[in-house]
Order: sequence, then C-alpha cells, then structure tokens
Amino acid sequence: MLTHTGHCLCGAATYTGMGDFIMQVCHCASCRRWTGSPAMTLTFAAGIDIKTPATIRWHRSSDWAERGSCTACGTTLFYRLVDGDYINVSAGSLDDQGAIRQIDEHVFIDEKPEHYDFSGNAPRVTGAEVVARFQPPGEPS
Ligand SMILES: [Zn+2]
Ligand SMILES: [Zn+2]
Repeated sequence: MLTHTGHCLCGAATYTGMGDFIMQVCHCASCRRWTGSPAMTLTFAAGIDIKTPATIRWHRSSDWAERGSCTACGTTLFYRLVDGDYINVSAGSLDDQGAIRQIDEHVFIDEKPEHYDFSGNAPRVTGAEVVARFQPPGEPS
C-alpha cells in the first residue's frame, strides 16, 4: 500500500498515512483559531497510523471531535471524530511535500472570513454539506 510519513516541528510526534489522500482546506472558525489560519488537511483512504501516541495531547473541541497536538512542541497535527474512525492530519506536517499536488476541496466555506481568498476552482462546500456526509443514511439530520 502507498504510504506517506510525517512529523511535527520537533520530531517527537510521527505518523504514517496509509493509501491515497485528498487535501482539503477548512475555513471553519475552530480550525482558524486552532491553527491561526485556514487548516490545510490530508485525509488518507486507509487512515493514519500514529507512531507516537504518547506524544499526542488530545483536546476535545466539540461534542463530536477532538484535535491532537504534539506534547513537546505544540504542533497542530490531527483532527478526529469521537465516533467512527475519521481522522485527518495537517498537510504541512507531511515529509514529502511534493506529493501534495492540489487542493481537492474547500470546506466550511460559509465560515470563511472576508479578509482572504484562495485562487483555483476546487469545489467549495458549506459546513452543513460536510456534516451531512457523516449522517447515517436514512437518519433525520
Ligand atoms: Zn513536536
Ligand atoms: Zn475546520
């Protein structure tokens, strides 16, 4: 399987992303507060193997998700859902930056502030559209 490794600023936290990945830019208020800017994240088809779980501190940022950062240097790394196995990682932490070819999607575009814009034609979807993807089929939202 295709894999990609990554690490935090100090090197204490490392991971392997498994399978192909897509890159999203999240414009939600929580991501901007957590990272200081829109969050560029990678979601791997077969998930992420966190090699150093003891060096990740998890912060519960909402009822449904938590965010993981390096305990030593504070690098913002992971976002995962509390239920299920969805997880993504900050794109800037990937070792092989050349492997990232494009922005595949902008999410929570309805929370994007006016003071910046991205170029390019990647799809822009709202927060409600993203949340709907995680609703079980047939379940009222
Ligand atoms: Zn670190
Ligand atoms: Zn976000």
